[in-house]
Amino acid sequence: MRSFDVQVSGAGIVGKSLALSLAAIGLEVALRGKSAAGGDDVRAYALSPTSIALLGRLKVWDTIVADARTAVHDIVVRGDADGAVLEFSAWQQRVAELAVITDAQALESELDAALRFATRVTRVGDDVAATLVAHCEGRAAATLRPLGEATTFARSDTGQRAIAARVVASLPHRHVARQWFRSPDVLALLPFDRPERARSYALVWSLPRERAEALLAADAVAFERELVAAADGEVGALALASERGAWPLVVGGADAWSGPGWVLVGDAAHVVHPLAGQGLNLGLADVAALSAVLAARESWRGVGDERLLRRYERQRAAPTWAMRQMTEGLLRLFADPSAPVRELRNNGMALVNRVPPLKRWLTARALDS
Ligand SMILES: Cc1cc2nc3c(=O)[nH]c(=O)nc-3n(C[C@H](O)[C@H](O)[C@H](O)COP(=O)(O)OP(=O)(O)OC[C@H]3O[C@@H](n4cnc5c(N)ncnc54)[C@H](O)[C@@H]3O)c2cc1C
Repeated sequence: MRSFDVQVSGAGIVGKSLALSLAAIGLEVALRGKSAAGGDDVRAYALSPTSIALLGRLKVWDTIVADARTAVHDIVVRGDADGAVLEFSAWQQRVAELAVITDAQALESELDAALRFATRVTRVGDDVAATLVAHCEGRAAATLRPLGEATTFARSDTGQRAIAARVVASLPHRHVARQWFRSPDVLALLPFDRPERARSYALVWSLPRERAEALLAADAVAFERELVAAADGEVGALALASERGAWPLVVGGADAWSGPGWVLVGDAAHVVHPLAGQGLNLGLADVAALSAVLAARESWRGVGDERLLRRYERQRAAPTWAMRQMTEGLLRLFADPSAPVRELRNNGMALVNRVPPLKRWLTARALDS
């Protein structure tokens, strides 16, 4: 039976990127799992410059068609009081863009295309013999029996669901990503060029479960009416341009990310709330870190060496912890409807907006993840 250096289990965006990245450093990789390309995922991801750099190195970025990736030049975040607004701009940050909104399906397809040319990656349907198993099964990893003995996943249900869809606005997006943080929902309209150039948005709307279910059951006209009201009419009229997809929102992470011959990567290790659009960015940063650690290993160390894998785990612990604290903290802060907390968060937003160095620092953290 053929033996591989690494079996990557789970062919989501993180698993496919990891397979390509490990093959590029000369490892023989088996990739197990079906691709979601050609499916019905209506999401678009806000990818950070760091993630884009990795995808560029894997040669899957430049080939994504132009209307499947739209640059974000400004981000406007509103709270739930007049004057509570936070504005970030690429110009102030001295960068070309703050993020690029990328079609999930287009990215999946480009990764599949690159994998077809990766001679060191073999797609397999079952477990194979390998020195290292990299678990990239997303949040499903938490339910894998062999892993259950090695690591514990602390998961908490936020009681929310996220609705995603594509919408077309009557006003141009001007490359501005808009978010509304308030109790009890968080709404994001991310500028996009599909299906209509300069007027489309990728919608991500996180809501309490019952409210989300009511909105999913509503007909298109009623849904659009509620959405325009939630967006304060800021982008004009909005028309649904896709089916509505929904995701239950759990957050959490594994208490150990590695052991002898196994490692967790991406959502298999940590699941963050999509309010900051950082889950995949964290996963791609894991890919870059694990690849660098394996590439730099001592000649006598195997890729499944526990000490080696701990180096990766240590590198990723602090940024992941910080992102979890930030997203879960914001979630708690904005879930509280009481007047004093409401005043505190809105005043806080207005204050941060008036302190350019603090804003620049916050933006740099997000660009880096
Ligand atoms: C509504 C929403 C919007 C989001 N927006 C953003 C954003 O703007 N920016 C951002 O950075 N992140 C965003 N995220 C987070 C992002 O979707 C995830 O962090 C990312 O998809 C994780 O990728 P992954 O490959 O680790 O896991 P997954 O995408 O879950 O992929 C796991 C893969 O493993 C497969 N699998 C499962 N079990 C097994 C098994 N036993 N054997 C083999 N294969 C298996 C699955 O079928 C799947 O293909 C968003 C999330 C949601 C819900």
